[in-house]
Amino acid sequence: METQRLTAHDIERAAGILTSGGLLGIPTETVYGLGANGLNPDAVHAIFEAKGRPQDNPLILHIPTEDWLERYCEDIPATAYALAARFWPGPLTMILPRKPIVPDAVTAGLDTVGMRCPDCAVTRAVITAADVPVAAPSGNTSGRPSPTTAAAMLEDMDGKIEAILDDGPCAVGVESTIIDLTVIPPRLLRPGGVTLEELEETLGEVEVDEAVRRLMAPGEQPKAPGMKYRHYAPKAPVTVVKGEPSCTAAYIQLKLQQGSGVICFDEFKDSFPDHPVETIGPAADPAAQARHIFEALRAFDHLDVTDIWAQSPSDEGIGLAVTNRLNKAAGFHIVEL
Ligand code: AMP
Ligand code: MG
Repeated sequence: METQRLTAHDIERAAGILTSGGLLGIPTETVYGLGANGLNPDAVHAIFEAKGRPQDNPLILHIPTEDWLERYCEDIPATAYALAARFWPGPLTMILPRKPIVPDAVTAGLDTVGMRCPDCAVTRAVITAADVPVAAPSGNTSGRPSPTTAAAMLEDMDGKIEAILDDGPCAVGVESTIIDLTVIPPRLLRPGGVTLEELEETLGEVEVDEAVRRLMAPGEQPKAPGMKYRHYAPKAPVTVVKGEPSCTAAYIQLKLQQGSGVICFDEFKDSFPDHPVETIGPAADPAAQARHIFEALRAFDHLDVTDIWAQSPSDEGIGLAVTNRLNKAAGFHIVEL
């Protein structure tokens, strides 16, 4: 199949692909998604096929406005409306009890469903025009870094999807925060663009799922099924070095072998001559690091590196999401200085 390139002028065409059961690459503020009609089990199965995604890893339903929540969820707690009022449209997914209309294919048989209203006007317009919720995971082949541009998504999906809607690079750059509102206290399953600190302002106590900060042991079941899989990984092995930036740079300099690559802050871009270097932004700018982390990881797949050494961001604010993705890319292979 030839994948069509669509723009913001093609909203009706994009909506038609969804209603006829096709796969559509959708822009969002977090990462590009691989979308399909979330009420059509065959279309949803095609998402799993195109990504090579394990069947037990559920998808998120994307809606254009908060008032669609009642179509697909029941027993919605007041906290969901409080979070929607503050953070939607935006990079926040809420886990809520699902209604029977939501197919098992979306939820992997769970009795809950992840709901999100993305901060991307074009995508919301397409969903409104199609008048169906859009089930969408990140638009990468399973296991690879998520795509933050249409070109990155086409590296993985060209020829496998009907079309991709290009709306430029993603503004946030890491996937949505996932908060489970079916438990007390609410539980953070995945850190993202809405920070833990912001959630605590609205919700009070928030529990952080173990899978956010450490590797799950074999047989352990994280609450977000996706968190148990190897993820975001470039082909070469990654080691993350935690500590004060000038110390981590000095440590990495000592460790580099011929063929090693480096992921570093902008300030250190000239510190590793003779090695491929990908910068992720200034050390003190975690929002810039979030925008660049996946492109940096993807870039090494086009370079012939044997291993990758990465300076670790701090884990405050959106930094928690950046370190989570980087640590997962490294299989939690972390050196603490
Ligand atoms: P992706 O869209 O590729 O970022 O993947 C969606 C993430 O949401 C995965 O980590 C899923 O495990 C998680 N997720 C989706 N639905 C649920 C649910 N009902 N309960 C817990 N986690 C979920
Ligand atoms: Mg994903």
